[in-house]
Amino acid sequence: MNRHIAIDGPAGAGKSTIAKALAKRKGLIYVDTGAMYRAFGLFLLRNEIDVNDEDAVIKACESADVSIAFENGEQVVLLDGENVNGLIRTEAVGNMASACSAIARVREIMVARQQQLAKEKDVVMDGRDIGTVVLPDAHTKIYLTASTKVRAKRRFDELTEKGVACDLAKIEEDIKERDHRDMNRAASPLRQAEDAVLVDTSDLTIEEVIEKILEISNG
Ligand code: C5P
Repeated sequence: MNRHIAIDGPAGAGKSTIAKALAKRKGLIYVDTGAMYRAFGLFLLRNEIDVNDEDAVIKACESADVSIAFENGEQVVLLDGENVNGLIRTEAVGNMASACSAIARVREIMVARQQQLAKEKDVVMDGRDIGTVVLPDAHTKIYLTASTKVRAKRRFDELTEKGVACDLAKIEEDIKERDHRDMNRAASPLRQAEDAVLVDTSDLTIEEVIEKILEISNG
């Protein structure tokens, strides 16, 4: 049986930073499932498909080839064979990903691909439904969270560092809106799995969070 670590939680909790570092320490492969929804969000934007037109979105999802490959141990997201890693981190793509991921059939397609990946490899996988749906048998399940204010500030610092002008209050509003949508959708809403351990990263350094999870996963 493969060794799997599942990390779920809201946007900005630090999932990808922590999951990446953990994967390195434990010699596991890091799989960022949000990137798959983002790649599909990019597909919808590019093809001007209205995310409210559920039939059109499902049809697109059945035909768009979103897959994950690994180059030098790093994840590469492929959209119909094109590496779109550099194109999926915008707010527009993130919002599209959040909207299309509420459609049950879209989730079914993505989850099947994620489970296939985990069948082949030992993974640290992060997302919203990993501990609850994708890898219910993962040996370690973490629910990573932080206050809305802290998450907004992290996003603000990240964008400012990149030279992107942004507004802290607007970012916090977006985060609240995305949390609400992710937690209240009918299809696999974001929630802590019963057997997941809650880790609040608001007042912890990255190193402290990693140490905590290593303790949990070895214990
Ligand atoms: O994690 P990230 O912000 O990249 O994910 C983008 C969006 O994809 C999230 O807001 C969420 O709606 C959706 N998502 C999901 N299930 C996952 C991963 C991401 O619904 N396993």
